[in-house]
Amino acid sequence: MNRAYRRDEGQVSLDEAELGEEIRAKKEALGKELLILTHHYQRKEIVALGDYRGDSFGLSQKAAANCDARFIVFCGVHFMAESAAILAQPQQTVQIPNPRAGCLMADMAALDTVETAWEELTDIAGEGSIVPVVYMNSDARLKAFCGRHGGTVCTSANALAALRWGLGRAAKVFFFPDQHLGRNTGNQLGLKPEDMIVWDPDRPLGGNRPETIRRARLILWDGYCHVHTRFQVDQVLAMKEAFPQAKMVVHPECTQEVVALADACGSTGFIVDYVARAAPQTTIIVGTEINLVHRLALEHPDKEVLDLHYSLCPNMFRINLENLLATLESPGEANIVTVSEPIKTEAKIALKRMLTLTGKPSC
Ligand code: SF4
Repeated sequence: MNRAYRRDEGQVSLDEAELGEEIRAKKEALGKELLILTHHYQRKEIVALGDYRGDSFGLSQKAAANCDARFIVFCGVHFMAESAAILAQPQQTVQIPNPRAGCLMADMAALDTVETAWEELTDIAGEGSIVPVVYMNSDARLKAFCGRHGGTVCTSANALAALRWGLGRAAKVFFFPDQHLGRNTGNQLGLKPEDMIVWDPDRPLGGNRPETIRRARLILWDGYCHVHTRFQVDQVLAMKEAFPQAKMVVHPECTQEVVALADACGSTGFIVDYVARAAPQTTIIVGTEINLVHRLALEHPDKEVLDLHYSLCPNMFRINLENLLATLESPGEANIVTVSEPIKTEAKIALKRMLTLTGKPSC
């Protein structure tokens, strides 16, 4: 019997265990030709089936370095699969189990609005006075934009090095699309609040006056991750009151007010290490995507790992066992993610610049 899962064709419906079994069978049949990459925010049953788990950039590097793998299946959101496609070898194809798994923050910065902002900013501040830095969580065309304009890509783990690098080369850095990662990093660099301005693409001059733009050191795109901005100061205070001995670690996509109250702040990789390094019996409150928090709790039964607040990334959650299995039924064919050669070439320039910066890539 063909047990392939086809709900829409009225064929066999499989439960979780059966789906896992089918996926493992596909993996075994494809052997080294297949590589399943799973982001930290994926559900645990997806992570359990991956060859590697990690952050978006680290996973893309793993895929590109694995020459035997022809079929890269990226269990994450679209910009992550795009990054893998940028770095992929010519013989590799990148697939995403659900092409509708986008990222709302990445969608907040479109190329045309960034280009308009760039023209307005350089008109006021002067040619050569601004370096663009784009967060990994962005469309490939924005990475290419940075490659074209002497900028770089950064991750949440090396944003400090990237902004330091940018401010060492020019008077200002234009950072997009996540204002909170930018501001938290600016704070780490010792920039004052008045050194950092927000660029709202829907307002003339981003809602700023020319003299404010001339004075600014860091221009922050008005974008945010709704998963991490869901964490609020009152939740932090309530958790601290309920668990006074606990340590709190949060992601830098959180607001600066939340970051200021936490014991530590860092990328997903940093959070994973923070929990792993904590002494047994420690209570750790974690402010990031709920699937990672739940997995950390399962992996560290000797510690008490609590979520700061329930916050799920609905796009990450669009990847499930059913669409993973459906993708594996058409290796190298279904839901392929491609990036055009010109975009790839320019995006690679910015990604290579990132690799020259200090700091472990992570996202
Ligand atoms: S957690 Fe935030 S930044 Fe990451 S994919 Fe979801 S919406 Fe985008």
